[in-house]
Amino acid sequence: MPLINLKLHANVSELILYLKCPRQVYYTHRKHELVTEITPEYLEHMMLKELAIGYPDAIERATEDKQAIRDELNIEMERVKGELELIYSTELRDLPHKVLETAESVVAEQIEKIATNLSEAISEYGKEEVIRRIRPYRTEPVLHSDKLKLTGIPSAVIQYGEKIVPLSIRTGKCPDSGVWRNDRIHIAAIAMLLEENYGNSVGHGFVQYARHGNIRQVKIRPEDRRQVLKIRTRIDNIKDGTLPERKENPACSYCNFTQFCTSTRSSLASRLF
Ligand code: SF4
Repeated sequence: MPLINLKLHANVSELILYLKCPRQVYYTHRKHELVTEITPEYLEHMMLKELAIGYPDAIERATEDKQAIRDELNIEMERVKGELELIYSTELRDLPHKVLETAESVVAEQIEKIATNLSEAISEYGKEEVIRRIRPYRTEPVLHSDKLKLTGIPSAVIQYGEKIVPLSIRTGKCPDSGVWRNDRIHIAAIAMLLEENYGNSVGHGFVQYARHGNIRQVKIRPEDRRQVLKIRTRIDNIKDGTLPERKENPACSYCNFTQFCTSTRSSLASRLF
């Protein structure tokens, strides 16, 4: 299907944006660009994501003890340093070297903890099983469903047994147990798209918290699916012109829409049109 047709439907990244702030969906749909400043913290996220893609290779090459995994992760880190500016050539153009160095040193400090947690997972589930849970079968596949009125390009899907299931690589904090609500909705949305695209039922997915080396299995519940459909409908309404109420939230402190995002619908509309 041509990409232009896919744009007619809500996409999974809009679901995630909606969960962060519904108004950001409204503005981005109206061609306001959500500017992401390349800070050391943002670079950390980019590096952790690229590093996490190398976890299965590092585990495969290493013996099962923590030191061997740590050594292999350090090799993967060198790969990330060499490849990052090639992969994100547009975003990282003209980036001061100091910013890159700061992010690299923060990520390098995480490697010991990542190795510990991956090593513990291997002790619990076995090396083959851990690799199976995080080795991408495809990266960034385009998934679309007319029935769901939804599209998505997940960072990765994995082959788990006979099925293709979602893998979400997250670079933020890891909850003490389970996964964050937004991650649960994300996994459910991708699972529903996989079902439509591959014709299998998908009962679970995995979230990999890259910063910690934790891998969490997520059972997809009917309520998660219900939420996906509900949010998708709200996004359709926003795209049709419904401006959501402004709710102060943590994202406001670094959102470049603050200048025209006022508390009332009417005052905002008068500034925009
Ligand atoms: S300023 Fe706050 S409420 Fe307005 S769009 Fe940004 S994050 Fe959302």
